[in-house]
Amino acid sequence: MSKSKLHVKKGDKVKVIAGKDKGKEGEILKSFPKASRVIVKGVNIIKKHVRPTQDNPQGGIVEKEAPIHSSNVMLVCEKCGDASRAGKKVLDSGEKVRFCKSCGEDID
Ligand SMILES: [Zn+2]
Repeated sequence: MSKSKLHVKKGDKVKVIAGKDKGKEGEILKSFPKASRVIVKGVNIIKKHVRPTQDNPQGGIVEKEAPIHSSNVMLVCEKCGDASRAGKKVLDSGEKVRFCKSCGEDID
């Protein structure tokens, strides 16, 4: 069981619903539950100056994803593609799973 309080977690496919990358979809690469932030692949790209290293002797500017607030993303159902309608239910085993309210498919 995840200890994360976020509604999304690493590996989830999500859709961005606010901010400059609104409408983009991507996978969560990392989540920061305490800060309520997530890093989504291809979303909120920032340019970062890096010092020269052995692998990159020139140094220069690299582009990488910066964290965004978790409330700006919604889980995307891989089955029906709907974003926004994830519910939670408790199985007979006591395990909590998320499910898609649109098509009923379990997400976890
Ligand atoms: Zn669905």
